[in-house]
Amino acid sequence: MAEEKTQAARLKEQLFYDPDPATKAMTGEQKQAAMTYAEGYRDFLCEVKTEREAVTFAVKQAEAAGFLPFDPNESLKPGDKRYLNNRGKALILCVVGTEGVENGISIAAAHIDSPRLDLKPNPLYEDHELAYFDTHYYGGIKKYQWTAIPLALHGVVVRADGTSVPVCIGEDPQDPVFCVTDLLPHLSAEQMKRAAGEIVKGEDLNLLIGSFPFNADEESEQVKLNILHILHEKYGITEADFRSAELEIVPAFPARDLGLDRSMIGAYGHDDRVCAYPALTAVLAQKTPRLTALTVLADKEEIGSEGNTGMQSSFLIDFIEDLAAAQGCCGRHVAARSLCLSADVNAAFDPIYPEVAEQRNFSYLNHGVVLTKYTGARGKYDTSDASAETMGKVRRLMDQNGVVWQIGELGRVDFGGGGTVAKYIATHNIDTVDLGVPVLSMHAPFEVVSKLDVYMTYRAIKAFYEA
Ligand code: MN
Ligand code: MN
Repeated sequence: MAEEKTQAARLKEQLFYDPDPATKAMTGEQKQAAMTYAEGYRDFLCEVKTEREAVTFAVKQAEAAGFLPFDPNESLKPGDKRYLNNRGKALILCVVGTEGVENGISIAAAHIDSPRLDLKPNPLYEDHELAYFDTHYYGGIKKYQWTAIPLALHGVVVRADGTSVPVCIGEDPQDPVFCVTDLLPHLSAEQMKRAAGEIVKGEDLNLLIGSFPFNADEESEQVKLNILHILHEKYGITEADFRSAELEIVPAFPARDLGLDRSMIGAYGHDDRVCAYPALTAVLAQKTPRLTALTVLADKEEIGSEGNTGMQSSFLIDFIEDLAAAQGCCGRHVAARSLCLSADVNAAFDPIYPEVAEQRNFSYLNHGVVLTKYTGARGKYDTSDASAETMGKVRRLMDQNGVVWQIGELGRVDFGGGGTVAKYIATHNIDTVDLGVPVLSMHAPFEVVSKLDVYMTYRAIKAFYEA
């Protein structure tokens, strides 16, 4: 016979906060659904490695689901699906609700740019008969992590005549790849004495791209010439065209199941496509929600949400203005009644580095989607810090819909910190809170997430749109 629970045990059950991890809280059927959902996500990561590729992918999926380009002059009816493509680098997807936008709209915003190496405007040079692309890193990286791994080149070149040509080299198994070389341990005595941030210097992140001369003529820079010859044959571009190009260097390997149990996915660019994909698939699943549903896929988060494709730009609030005007109301009144889930990753607890975590307030792999009240640093600077009421609303939403979720904070107090797009949306008088997937090795070329957490992020955003 089972032992009677003590009075203290019963009271603890009632009063303590002690949620089950997703591995325990989810049914077998839900876990299977998560595994299936993760396959789609893994395929997405293999196909999409830049913000432009994310927009191209999302537009294609949206059009297949009946979305049309947004026209600010048309009047929309419930169930209408529209998208606004901001320069091929950011995107808004909208499903019109049965209630007027004056009752507020439901927004999920994720970013689709990831840390990487960008080519400089004049990138190509030859040094001791080796050809290189010179780079300027984009976002917060540990520079040493980007050496001695296979890298691919993605992007677009706008030629002198104004035509643009997409570039993608290193993804097809038949393609060549590139790399940044590192020093052999045998000769690293001086290098290894440097501070970790200086082991590989920013200016030394040069991509090795060739070593054969064009021919045997007595000409200088024959290796560089050979590279330009190949690029000209393939893309019709010359060296001068690099000045009007956006070429991004990203890891060349595909996303893979991680672990013998295949419970995780290892890949480049989880931050933040692991939230962008749920936000995309959740809006595509909408038919006629009560409130108008908006998924925003933003660029430039990793460098501070700057520029006209980043969340500091007015493109989201302008879109809300247009929606409001079409229904005869005012954008600022819509904003004031709206709720935004700023869908971004958080740091997952790493048992190898427990010292950076305050363990009662950190997020954990397989504990579900993370709701992060505030990010920021140095005494909550640079965060919008969601209100108790906003947290209460989202908490109820998740509990009512069987979403497994956890709280998170970005590290021990005064150990560092970071931000998301949340504060740039909240500044428009929109209730905003961060919600997303816990990640191991964030910003590394190979980041890790749990499949159950990805699925719970999808479930959270879908429940939000369907509330
Ligand atoms: Mn992020
Ligand atoms: Mn990031």
